[in-house]
Amino acid sequence: MNALKRKIIDRIKASGPISVAEYMSIALSDPEHGYYMTRDPLGRDFTTAPEVSQIFGELIGLFFVQAWEDRGQPRPFYFVELGPGRGTLMADMLRAARKVRPEFVDAAKIVLVEISPMLRGVQAETLSTVPVKWVSQFDDVPRGAPLFLVANEFFDALPIQQFVKSESGWRERMVASDGNELVFSLSSTVAIPESPIAIGDVLTDSILELNPTATEITRAIGPRFDEHDGVTLVIDYGYDKPALGDTLQAVKANSYVHPLAEPGEADLTAHVDFAALARASRSYVLGPIPQGAFLESLGINVRAGLLKRRNPERSTEIDAAVERLTGPSDMGRLFKAMTIFEGLDQEEPPGFDAACGSSHR
Ligand code: SAH
Repeated sequence: MNALKRKIIDRIKASGPISVAEYMSIALSDPEHGYYMTRDPLGRDFTTAPEVSQIFGELIGLFFVQAWEDRGQPRPFYFVELGPGRGTLMADMLRAARKVRPEFVDAAKIVLVEISPMLRGVQAETLSTVPVKWVSQFDDVPRGAPLFLVANEFFDALPIQQFVKSESGWRERMVASDGNELVFSLSSTVAIPESPIAIGDVLTDSILELNPTATEITRAIGPRFDEHDGVTLVIDYGYDKPALGDTLQAVKANSYVHPLAEPGEADLTAHVDFAALARASRSYVLGPIPQGAFLESLGINVRAGLLKRRNPERSTEIDAAVERLTGPSDMGRLFKAMTIFEGLDQEEPPGFDAACGSSHR
């Protein structure tokens, strides 16, 4: 048995079952054995869009340049990324931005929100030519200037709470121990999740998920925009309508494993509930729209065509990357993009034409 599983079982034996959220938080960020704390999982356990192709980050960079221009080119501004992984997205965004608007890069104060000391090291290498500041949580991002914020595959990595509808009402899903194994169980007392779905008629055994940290971060963005303006772009896999179901998943070496089998050794994530983010937001929202539609609207096909003309020997590889990012059975539909922005007398951020004017406050 791995050391972290031993530690969790000992803790459960001493003080009782822990919630799924606590379990996820320990498995991912235990300072000694947590999944993100000790390794660089990108490319080994899973591959994210920026790691698929430089085109992804370049288009997102141009998204932010456009949003910055539409807002009168504020200087300075905070260019913030939540959970930057290897720093690839930030590097690709800055390279594309520098080509079209060097002033954008000069005005950007880059802040990375990252808990993993190991990944901070990788980011420092990737971004060695630009000044970068690291913080551990969104709340520590400095205030006092407009905020341009991006989060790709970040919200799915935050601990979720799960609730199960039992005959006697909602109960929180817990993790208990059975000998040398971890097993799911239910809280002994009734727990009432704060969600519009929890009120309706729900079949017994249905699972409802909440992501309190994602909600808190989203709620904190609006007030910053009220003070200094800004645009947020969230891209992740998830669902756009309130829904029930168990989306907790563990991935190791590109294959699914049981979420309780190897804490600390598999990536543990849950699908993002975009409707919950939109409800928590206290600013204007567009989307979510499918990643495929978003990237097409930002001009992925034109950009791929250009790259292919310059590098004909890479044509097949470029076509494959575009298909992977936009294809409906690849990342094109399950992954979604949503923007939160200060919209009072301001342009809507680019790329959201498919969102059919769903901007609201
Ligand atoms: N955005 C990157 C990496 C996604 S993996 C990409 O698209 O390639 C998730 C990232 O979020 C990792 O960098 C991980 O260390 C970081 N992370 C996970 N939980 C976090 C938390 N609670 N606070 C800050 N960063 C976190």
